[in-house]
Amino acid sequence: MSTEASKQAFEHAKEIFPGGVNSPVRAFKAVGGSPLFIDKAKGAYLYDVDGNRYIDYVLSWGPMILGHAKDQVIRAVKEAVDKGTSYGAPSPLETRLGKLLQERVPYLERLRMVSSGTEATMSAIRVARGVTKRDKIIKFIGCYHGHSDAFLVQAGSGVATFGLPNSPGVPAATVQDTLTLPYNDQEALRQCFEQHGQDIAGVIIEGVAGNMGLIPADPDFIQLIRKLTKQYGALFIMDEVMTGFRASYTGATGLYQVEPDLLCLGKVVGGGFPVAVFGGKKEYMEAVAPLGAIYQAGTLSGNPIAMTAGYETVKGLTPELFQQMEERVEQLCHGLKSLADKYQVPLQVVHRGTMFGFFFNPEPVRNFEDSKNSDQELFAKVYQSLLAKGIYLAPSQYESNFMSTAHTKEDIEATLTAFEEVFGEIYG
Ligand SMILES: *Cc1c(COP(=O)(O)O)cnc(C)c1O
Repeated sequence: MSTEASKQAFEHAKEIFPGGVNSPVRAFKAVGGSPLFIDKAKGAYLYDVDGNRYIDYVLSWGPMILGHAKDQVIRAVKEAVDKGTSYGAPSPLETRLGKLLQERVPYLERLRMVSSGTEATMSAIRVARGVTKRDKIIKFIGCYHGHSDAFLVQAGSGVATFGLPNSPGVPAATVQDTLTLPYNDQEALRQCFEQHGQDIAGVIIEGVAGNMGLIPADPDFIQLIRKLTKQYGALFIMDEVMTGFRASYTGATGLYQVEPDLLCLGKVVGGGFPVAVFGGKKEYMEAVAPLGAIYQAGTLSGNPIAMTAGYETVKGLTPELFQQMEERVEQLCHGLKSLADKYQVPLQVVHRGTMFGFFFNPEPVRNFEDSKNSDQELFAKVYQSLLAKGIYLAPSQYESNFMSTAHTKEDIEATLTAFEEVFGEIYG
């Protein structure tokens, strides 16, 4: 399979964008080689500019849950475009999606549409700080909450992939109020609240972490966050930008049966367009302008095309389709585990809902430290071999992989066959 056209396209792009990309992990640095440049996508497949077809488990990093270019989404978007692409004034399309979200995701008494997950979490933290009149926030090491200053401390995703503990350009004063703790460490959390409890505005977490590889939180850990935040008057913010509509049909809050004070959505909620959401308890959200003094705004927030794609995507996602995706994930993960046993590969396979990940590690992975200690060289080697066989996984062990409703049993079987060939080449 030739990827010459992709290589050339990458060379051209490097003369225009830093590293040739508009978001760092796309550069494939963690796995070596050159990224694929994409020509088109349909259903479960990506087609690169050389005309190769790949089974896609990245799905634009999560959003394309109905598969690429889903007919009903595309049709609705085309109709919406004919009615104008942005109004800068309210439209019923916003209310329609907002209401659907309230029906699907409990705990969104009031919500606001924004254009990226970064904006959603940044605004949620501002609300937490504004209503509590406190400055400190707790985030967990290896979790990623977008690239706003306060969160760029020991963050996951690209920040982890490139081994950056902190980002230059973030003022020390901005992050001195960000307390970072190990994921799944109850004692560290308790001690932190004992020491700083009166100054803590909020705790933010990915309930199922997907930005340091896939690492679910212990249910007890989530309950402890709920208990301590309540006890100390801090807000519990569930960052569901990735897990929303994915960790379970009702996201991570549904998985853990926990009620957060604020919740962020993104990725799936825009169906491939730039949409994210922050919302939660009415008393907190009504502290946001124009009702309250906490300022937040956006020129393209609630964009009619994006609202349309989001609505069709979320509406198209039924419990039956969700269950079908879960079965595919189980088929894939179960098959992978069997192959790992057969070829004696030290592999941890993890899945929740429609998300899955794997670590080349003999021990279960519970936090960022464990994740870092996985065999990344082996990951890169396996990755490249799979890619050459038409399997497109997330190009870093610090990222989650996703299933769509378009993936068939045959796609999963083809993926497992490719894995078996690769394990056979390395371990056979
Ligand atoms: C992707 C992601 C973000 C950031 O969203 P962007 O739209 O990339 O700004 C925030 N939090 C989590 C958990 C994410 O996975």
